[in-house]
Amino acid sequence: MNRRKHSRYFGPYGGRFVPEMLIPALSKLEEAFFHFRDDPGFKNELDRLLRTYAGRPTPLYFAENLTHESGWCRIYLKMEGLTHTGAHKINNVLGQALLAKKMGKTRLIAETGAGQHGLATAAAAARFGLECKVFMGEVDMDRQYPNVFFMRRMGAEVIPVREGTRTLKDAVNAALKYWIEHLEETHYLLGSALGPFPYPLMVRHFQSVIGREVKRQMRKLERRPPDVLVACVGGGSNSLGLFHPFLRQKSVRCVGVEAGGRGMKPGEHAVRFSPDGRPGILQGYKSTFLQDEYGQVLPTHSISAGLDYAGISPELAHLRERGRVEFVSVDDRQALEGLSLLCRTEGILPALESAHAVAYGARLARTFSRDQAMVINISGRGDKDLFITARALDGENWLEFLSRELSRDQSY
Ligand SMILES: *Cc1c(COP(=O)(O)O)cnc(C)c1O
Repeated sequence: MNRRKHSRYFGPYGGRFVPEMLIPALSKLEEAFFHFRDDPGFKNELDRLLRTYAGRPTPLYFAENLTHESGWCRIYLKMEGLTHTGAHKINNVLGQALLAKKMGKTRLIAETGAGQHGLATAAAAARFGLECKVFMGEVDMDRQYPNVFFMRRMGAEVIPVREGTRTLKDAVNAALKYWIEHLEETHYLLGSALGPFPYPLMVRHFQSVIGREVKRQMRKLERRPPDVLVACVGGGSNSLGLFHPFLRQKSVRCVGVEAGGRGMKPGEHAVRFSPDGRPGILQGYKSTFLQDEYGQVLPTHSISAGLDYAGISPELAHLRERGRVEFVSVDDRQALEGLSLLCRTEGILPALESAHAVAYGARLARTFSRDQAMVINISGRGDKDLFITARALDGENWLEFLSRELSRDQSY
């Protein structure tokens, strides 16, 4: 009998609330993860992939101009957007894909909203010679054509989900259903630090490479730990990846930035830690979810698809209750300002998700002194958001460009 030394909960949150048929698969995954996590061969192979394929370590860049513009503490940017496929998602995807390979799986499945996680999964599947199916709400497929196109080029089958609101939460349900029917050969590659155990822990583990690198890089650059870390929070994987290696150092403040969307009316935002956020059990785990008083999940809105989700990492829900991680929110308009600010001062185009962290970080910097240091996680780069940012910031020229494209002749 195998005795479990770890808990499947983070305080009162987490667990695994899934149909009976999934329990053996989750247990096998848990066992394989704890076995390979500390296996030197596995660690070497993953390290090599992160270095040679994903482009790690990513730079910790001293943003001198942004520091001067904000006035006070020294601002560093962790450049996750420079990784292969353009966001931190690849860290987790490579870890899980390698694990799936070790477990003898021949197929990866994933669900995706914006398409970023689907794209990273499709890339890893191609790299490892695995079959790949990506479930995506029909509405999201319409909104995210470029990623659908790229996933298909990489050999993934993108499956439109027509149930419910035809967005991310319906894609999650479809992926879970498919997994139950094809457990033997399939690994469900979950993209954020949530879902049934062991996913929240496993995803956080693979993403913690971000914080471990920052620790080392700060020692070299500043000879001391940072005073504050700032990251945007969708499901919670880039923030936990940055925060986790620092959680024991009480002097390091951790700030998570949620998506304030168009305002604080229900349905207009994705701020789980707001009056609309209530404890609940959904899609396999216990956490805080945006729901109405009858427990119906509320619709969410954010200009950034990666932050547009009703649930959040159970570990973050716990860390917030313990007072170890603080949460704030930044709305759509402020995020666009954050994007423009970083472009103008540093020539760096952040993902709209990361722009939330930039907007808040630049403001927060004023409350620190000149000899203190802040690290903002630039979780991704902004090319993927062209269709949204161009329309919002340069609408007339953008629409003109699109109509010219339509009328152009068909040669290359
Ligand atoms: C997916 C995504 C996020 C949000 O997901 P987390 O799990 O909270 O990190 C943030 N930034 C980018 C660039 C993303 O692609």
